[in-house]
Amino acid sequence: AQEGILRRQSARESSARTYARALPIVPVRARGLTIEGADGRRYLDCLSGAGTLALGHNHPVVLEAIRKVLDSGAPLHVLDLATPVKDAFTTELFRTLPPGLADRARVQFCGPAGTDAVEAAFKLVRAATGRTGMLAFTGAYHGMTAGALEASGGACEVRVTRLPYPQDYRCPYGVGGEHGAELAARWTESVLDDAKSGVPLPAGMILEPVQGEGGVIPAPDGWLRRMREITATRSIPLIADEVQTGVGRTGRFWAVEHSGVVPDVMVLSKAIGGSLPLAVVVYRDDLDVWQPGAHAGTFRGNQLAMAAGTATLAHVRENGLAERAEMLGSRMLTQLGPLIGEFACVGDVRGRGLMIGIEMVDPEAPPAVADGPRPAAPDLATAVQRECLRRGLIVELGGRHAGVVRLLPPLTITDEQTNAVLDRLTDAIEAVAR
Ligand code: PMP
Repeated sequence: AQEGILRRQSARESSARTYARALPIVPVRARGLTIEGADGRRYLDCLSGAGTLALGHNHPVVLEAIRKVLDSGAPLHVLDLATPVKDAFTTELFRTLPPGLADRARVQFCGPAGTDAVEAAFKLVRAATGRTGMLAFTGAYHGMTAGALEASGGACEVRVTRLPYPQDYRCPYGVGGEHGAELAARWTESVLDDAKSGVPLPAGMILEPVQGEGGVIPAPDGWLRRMREITATRSIPLIADEVQTGVGRTGRFWAVEHSGVVPDVMVLSKAIGGSLPLAVVVYRDDLDVWQPGAHAGTFRGNQLAMAAGTATLAHVRENGLAERAEMLGSRMLTQLGPLIGEFACVGDVRGRGLMIGIEMVDPEAPPAVADGPRPAAPDLATAVQRECLRRGLIVELGGRHAGVVRLLPPLTITDEQTNAVLDRLTDAIEAVAR
């Protein structure tokens, strides 16, 4: 059955299919970290629906919440009308919000994907400020619709100015750390304040506290605080895109909490729907300038996603899963770190909480600058992914140069499973390095 399904789907689906190209498996059952293929093989899934599955596959509290709605006779689709299910979701969501936003928050349900919420956030700050431009960062990923795509490096009508995102490993200033981040912050300041060639005052700034698709690059807390200060002093709303970093993944419920920064707007999706599609923009009440009908969309009220999301948010909060993510993440980084010295093809190991990235580099190619990193090696990253799959481990790829192997395991991963993931991954890297 597996071969037939793979053959038919690859003939019928668009050639853009991405995950299915690299991962020729046909999942038929899943629970927690484990996926079972139609051929009976079992895999440890560290792709987690691109970071969606905070509680892993088919967690009992999520299934129970969905069943409860189904069995209650509640409507499954009522556009954005108020329902008890929505009321419970909003209550739980507001309970988790960072202090400073929680008591003054408004929510706009968007639908159904992260990219929709990014578009809505752009619209909101444009309406609130009466300005048009957006500031975004190198290496960013905000989605695949027009405006969000532009902020991710695409081409469309939204005028986006891209500024340097701080990075340790490939720091454009060659210094990294807090110092490199401060230089990046000064660049942003100088662009904004350049009276002759700077950008006009923009409607907003959007950033990821940890870049995910960009290659798992955590922004230093100091840089985030500088961005808060730079935007606050110029009345530019700061939009934190926590689509991937939210719901405990980085070791805090929301990743901005590491730095204490309170954004004006937060874009949330993925894990907030507990495996089902759900996306919202949360923002401070004084930005709520929208007129009735200013933002619409048929699928802004997925009742099942709200119920699954309520159960997920509550489970993460009540069981301290963010703290667990922080603990397991630092254990994984400690164990994987030495691979840098061991294998010339491992350039960097980094992450925050259970967002982990391993950057593969070409050991033969000379660094672009003396003592700098070697060029990224997308072929080696792909080879590691393939070797992982052979060993029953599903990992994700990413990074500006597609050279980063990424792990996004569920926050419910056990100690034993963590060891199994580390063993298989290390084995796979060793196989590629040989
Ligand atoms: N923002 C971030 C930070 C993301 O990681 C993603 C998806 N990977 C998106 C936005 C877009 O979300 P979606 O794919 O649901 O449109």
